[in-house]
This record gives sequence, structure tokens and C-alpha cells, in this order.
Amino acid sequence: MTPQQRTAVVTGAARGIGAATALRLAADGHRVAVLDLEERAAKATVEAIEGAGGTAAAFGADVSDRAAVEAAVGAVTERLGPPTILVNNAGITKDNLLFKMSDDDWDAVMGVHLKGAFLMTRGIQKSMVEAGWGRVVNLSSVSALGNRGQANYATAKAGLQGFTKTLAIELGKFGVTANCIAPGFIASEMTKATAERLGQDWEAFRAARASEIPVQRAGTPEDIAHTVSFFVDERSSFVNGQVVYVAGGPRT
Ligand code: NAP
Repeated sequence: MTPQQRTAVVTGAARGIGAATALRLAADGHRVAVLDLEERAAKATVEAIEGAGGTAAAFGADVSDRAAVEAAVGAVTERLGPPTILVNNAGITKDNLLFKMSDDDWDAVMGVHLKGAFLMTRGIQKSMVEAGWGRVVNLSSVSALGNRGQANYATAKAGLQGFTKTLAIELGKFGVTANCIAPGFIASEMTKATAERLGQDWEAFRAARASEIPVQRAGTPEDIAHTVSFFVDERSSFVNGQVVYVAGGPRT
């Protein structure tokens, strides 16, 4: 079956899991809007996609800012056509133990993960419903199950699971599926920053985490991109409202 070419939006796609996902969706034949805080930062991913023969364009927007999201959705539609694939991947961490966590650190994490996914999905669902086809993939985390020092992040990532299931119920009748990926430990700038914050050498930190994982390795951004590709596939239309832990084990 030759897959139909669609327009996909991947948020936080300048690097890490978002960049790998953008590259994979382009390799799957889709036009990809590479969205990140700064359009400039998204250009390297676009160049990598174009270098591999794919189609992509860079867009800058803070996903937690309604006006910026509306402008970006308009620009994507004009440049690449109405989007019908959305990967809500943009994320930040502001870790601290509860008694030291500031209001700002709570609000920032809720803003990017929860409000960001809400604004992006609300902005793009219209073109999905009009097309009678759509795919939403949200990035949760094993931290949704609870993680020391991450009261804000764990709450947001658990919230994304409820958001996903509600989208699945509301949008299913329009041919739109919504699913969630909860990654475990993935080697990226985000986990490198965690090692730095804990004052640990990156390679030692990575090896220690890998030893706790049943498959005995750290995850890669491509591991997550592969699961996104599965959810987006035309043949996955009966998979809706699910959370898949991609963690080398049940929850590590
Ligand atoms: P990353 O390397 O830190 O990349 C995140 C990207 O999102 C960055 O390019 C960042 O831009 C962008 N971003 C941040 N705030 C944004 C905003 N308001 N609007 C638009 N873009 C924004 O992270 P990653 O490790 O690839 O993680 C990707 C997703 O997977 C996140 O949702 C994360 O929570 C989740 N996840 C990661 C892991 C892991 O082990 N790495 C595990 C579980 C879940 P700037 O560089 O400009 O800040």
C-alpha cells in the first residue's frame, strides 16, 4: 500500500525526540512542519530532511502562547497544506523537590506540556475533522507514574494521558485517532541536562540508568520516532486512546 502524503506538525523538533520524529515522518513520505521556539533552531532538522530527499519547513512558536500557535498553524497550512498529523512533543523540565518548587516552575511546565498540547490540538483538529482523517500523538513519560523531584512534570505527563483519551473519544468519529507515548530514559539534551544538574558525568549517568533497564540500554530518539510512525500509519486506525510505554521494560 502506498501511504498517502499528509502534512505533519512536530513540536519541539529542533533536536532530540522531536527531530528524530520529524525525520522519520518525512522518510514515511509526509510533508513535515518542524516547529520549535525559534524558527532558526528548527532549520537544521529541515536541512537534514531535505538532504534525505524529504519535504519540510521550519516554524517558530512558543506552544504555550495562543497567538503564536494560531499564527504558526496558519503559516503551516499556507506553506505545506492543512495539517492532519500532530505530534505534541515540545517539553521542558524544571525539577525540584516539592518544598523548593516555585510557582513559576510549576506554571512553566504546565504551560508547555498541557496548555501547549491543548492549544496545538485545538488549532489543528479543524483541518483533521474537515479531512475526515487525523492522527494526534502526545508525548507523556514514565514520570507520569510518579518521580522524585518532578511534581510538576509528573503531573503534566499524567495529564497528557487523560487529554489523549478524551481526544480519542471526542474525535474518533471524524476518523481522528489520538495516542500517547510514555518514553523511559532516552539519551537527549533533556537527560544530559538532568545529569548536569545532579553533578554527574553524562556517560556514567547513562550507563547507570541503562543498567536498571531490562533491555540494558538507554533509549534513543529513533526508538520513539518508530512508535510515532506506527500510530500515524494508515493501518493503525483502530488503535485509539492508548498509552504505550517505550522504556525497555514495563516502566523503567
Ligand atoms: P529536548 O532535547 O529538551 O527537546 C525539546 C525541544 O522542545 C527543544 O528543542 C525545545 O526548544 C523545545 N521546546 C521547549 N519549550 C518549547 C515551547 N514552549 N514551544 C516550542 N518548543 C519548545 O527534549 P527530548 O528529550 O527530545 O524530549 C521530547 C519530549 O519527550 C518532551 O515532551 C519530553 O518531556 C518527553 N520525554 C523525554 C524523555 C527523555 O528521556 N529524554 C523521557 C520521557 C519523555 P529549546 O531548546 O529552545 O528549549
